Amino acid sequence: MNTDLLNALRAAVGPAQVLTRDTHDLEAYERDWRQRAHGRALAVVRPGSTDEVAAVVRACAAHGASLVPQGGNTGLVVGSVPDDSGTQVVLSLQRLNAVRAIDRANLTMTVEAGCVLQAVQQAAEAEGLLFPLSLAAEGSCTIGGNLATNAGGTQVLRYGNARELCLGLEVVTPEGEVWHGLSGLRKDNTGYDLRDLFVGSEGTLGIITAATLKLFPQPAATLTAWAAVPSLQAAVDLLGLAQQRLAAGLTGFEVMGQFALSLVARHMPQLRVPLWQDTPYCVLLENSDSEGEDHARAQFEGLLEAAMEQGLVSDAVVAESIAQAHALWHIRESIPLAQAQEGLNIKHDISIPVSRIPAFCDEADALLQREIPGVRLVNFGHLGDGNLHYNVQAPAGADAKYFLQTQESRVNQLVFDTVARYHGSISAEHGVGSLKAGHLPHFKDPVALALMRRIKAALDPHNRFNPGRVLTP
Ligand SMILES: Cc1cc2nc3c(=O)[nH]c(=O)nc-3n(C[C@H](O)[C@H](O)[C@H](O)COP(=O)(O)OP(=O)(O)OC[C@H]3O[C@@H](n4cnc5c(N)ncnc54)[C@H](O)[C@@H]3O)c2cc1C
Repeated sequence: MNTDLLNALRAAVGPAQVLTRDTHDLEAYERDWRQRAHGRALAVVRPGSTDEVAAVVRACAAHGASLVPQGGNTGLVVGSVPDDSGTQVVLSLQRLNAVRAIDRANLTMTVEAGCVLQAVQQAAEAEGLLFPLSLAAEGSCTIGGNLATNAGGTQVLRYGNARELCLGLEVVTPEGEVWHGLSGLRKDNTGYDLRDLFVGSEGTLGIITAATLKLFPQPAATLTAWAAVPSLQAAVDLLGLAQQRLAAGLTGFEVMGQFALSLVARHMPQLRVPLWQDTPYCVLLENSDSEGEDHARAQFEGLLEAAMEQGLVSDAVVAESIAQAHALWHIRESIPLAQAQEGLNIKHDISIPVSRIPAFCDEADALLQREIPGVRLVNFGHLGDGNLHYNVQAPAGADAKYFLQTQESRVNQLVFDTVARYHGSISAEHGVGSLKAGHLPHFKDPVALALMRRIKAALDPHNRFNPGRVLTP
C-alpha cells in the first residue's frame, strides 16, 4: 500500500518533490520548533501549485492516508509535525510562495500560502503599503500557517489577528476539491462565512493554498517608548490613557515583568535593558502616526507627562532613532530565548479581559507561590490584547527537567482553572494543536465543542486532515 501511495504522490507532484527517509533527512519536517515532539512521516510532499495540492489530497484519500499540512513549522503547540506512526504524509506548502497580485486601490494583496510572512511584509512595503501582521517568527513562518493558527503578534491592538487581515481564501478540501474564495470584498453577506471556518482551524478542515489580505497605508512615522510602571494596574490604566490620547495611533502595548527582564539582562548583557531594576513592570508602547515624526513625538511626550503626573509611570525613554526602537523591541522579543537559557519552563499563552488582568495575576501568583514555594514567574505579553505569556520557571537551583516532569500538569491545572474563573482563554494565539487538545473538553463550552466535532465530521468525515489536533478522537 505504501509503495502504491508513494507512486501516486510522485505522479501528483513529480518524483523530486516526494521526500522519503531512504533518500532524505526528514528531521526538519518531523521535529517541532520547541523540540517537544519528534514524529515519523511516511513522506514529505512538496507540491508547487494548488492543483498539485488537490492531487496529493486525492491520492492520500484513495489510499486512506492522513495528511499533516506544514508551513514554516514554527507553531508552538505541536500541530505541524507527523505522529510517530510512520504512516502520515507531511504536506509542505513552502513551494507555493508566489505573490499573485497586489491591488493598490482596493488595498489588498493575494499571496500563496507558503509565502514567508516577512516576504509578504516586504512585498507590501515595496508598494508603499503596510501588511501589519508581525511576530518574532516572521522570518520563517508562512502566511498559510499564520492563517491556519489565526496568529496574533505585536499589532493586534490596532489591526487585529490574522483573521481580521484576511478577506478571502483558496482552500483544498478533504475531498480534494478547490474552493476558490479569493475575494477582495469587504462586504459579502451571502451565507455562512467559510473563510472564518478555515482561519484558525489548524489544518484540520482544509488546506489553505492562497489568501487575499488587507493592506494599509504606511504610517508617516512610528515611535517607540519604554516606560517603568509601579504596578500591573498602573500598566492597565496607562493603556486606557494611551488609547484615549493616541487613538488608532497606538499600535503596540507590551508588558514585561521584572523577572522576565532580569533574565534578558543576565543572559544577554549586550542588550542593555533600560529601567528594569527598580520597578515591577515595564511597558513598551508604539505610536504610529499619519502626520509625521514631530507630531508623533509631541503626542508621545504629552502622553508620558500626563501618565507621570497621574503616577502611572515612574520613568520613561522615547527611542531617538529607528535603531533604538528596534533595540527596545529586540529586548521584548528576546525574553523567550533568555528564559530558555535559564532552563526548561512551563509556557502559557492565556487571555483575560484586560480590566481583570491585575486581579488575575495577584490570584495566580499567590496560588502558585503557595502550592509550589519558590516558583519563578516569567510574566510578559501583549497587554493591549489581554494576552499574557504567563510562564512558570522552576525554583532557583532546582532541577528544571525534574520540575517539568513532576509539576507541569499541576501547574497547568492551577493556571488554567484560574483563567477559567476569570472567563479567559487557555490559548490566546498559539492555538490548540496536540499540546492542548486534551484540555479543550475541560475548558470549552460543551455545546461549542459538540458543534466543532460536527463541523469536523461534516467536512472531513474520514478524519484525514491533521487527526488528533484541536479535537481528540
Ligand atoms: C519565535 C516565535 C515567536 C512566535 N510569536 C508568535 C506571536 O507573537 N503570535 C502568534 O500568534 N504566534 C506566534 N508564534 C507561533 C505561531 O503560530 C507561528 O509562528 C505561525 O503562525 C505558524 O506559521 P507556520 O508557517 O510556521 O505554521 P506551522 O508551524 O507549519 O503550522 C502551524 C499549524 O497550521 C497548520 N498549517 C500550516 N500551514 C497550513 C496551510 N497552508 N493550510 C492549513 N493548515 C496549515 C499546521 O498543520 C499546524 O497545525 C511564534 C512562534 C515562534 C517560534
